[in-house]
Amino acid sequence: MGLFSKGCVICDGKCGLTSSKSIADGKLCENCISELSPWFTDFKHATAESIEEQMAYREENKEKLDDFEITKAWGIKKYKEAMQFIYDKDRKQFVVVSGPEETFKERNPDVIDFDQVTDVFLEVIEHWGEKGGQYDPPNLTHQIRQEEYKDVFWRYDFYLHIKVDHPYFDEICYKMNWKTTVLKVPQRGIMFRRGLEMSGTYKGEELESLAENIEKTGSGERRMIKVGKVVDTALLKKNDDDVVDLLIEDYKDEKYLKKIENVANHIKRADRIYKLLVD
Ligand SMILES: [Zn+2]
Repeated sequence: MGLFSKGCVICDGKCGLTSSKSIADGKLCENCISELSPWFTDFKHATAESIEEQMAYREENKEKLDDFEITKAWGIKKYKEAMQFIYDKDRKQFVVVSGPEETFKERNPDVIDFDQVTDVFLEVIEHWGEKGGQYDPPNLTHQIRQEEYKDVFWRYDFYLHIKVDHPYFDEICYKMNWKTTVLKVPQRGIMFRRGLEMSGTYKGEELESLAENIEKTGSGERRMIKVGKVVDTALLKKNDDDVVDLLIEDYKDEKYLKKIENVANHIKRADRIYKLLVD
């Protein structure tokens, strides 16, 4: 660790141009960065000394994990990289970690005490765009106009912010959904209908009432779809093409209702976490 060394301040290893980070008194290599907390971001103010302290803390964290027992893991189980909120009710501790609960200890997620939590809120990001693909970009060029409602897709992402009193980071923020929820709102008659209109941040009772509203929307939509079907069946002559059309419609309707249900599930999960940590 010579004065003019270009290597990592901790291990003197090679510092790649894009993989390394600058700290106040030198550079950190990719390997050493991977030893730090995934929630740690303030490299600018870190020093070789504070990094060494954090590494010692990360070693102690492994010991804490040995005792940690899963009460529940809340998250999406369908995708194996999805984020999980896992807690130990008796020890009043939790971790937030990517990947399945069976192997989460291998990833050394930071163990947080419930009483280190100072606040929890859900941030919902709602965008609209012309295309309905998972990775299609949202349209950010202008406010949506009424005449566009029928053609666009609405996109939803859910970020949970857990504010903590911790020596190396002050927030755990993670995306609760794995895939962006993308849905098209069916237009009914002459009514212009836009998205769920839920951009914003929510906590406490707001979470509960948001979840209730979305569930109400879901059951309202289910009712309207049923009414629509009765009308359609009465109007349509029953030939084979019509039956196929109706089946496709059924499938699309079910997918749409399922997406609303998913949205409600993310909010309900946020509400459970809020109640566990803050209430
Ligand atoms: Zn290093």
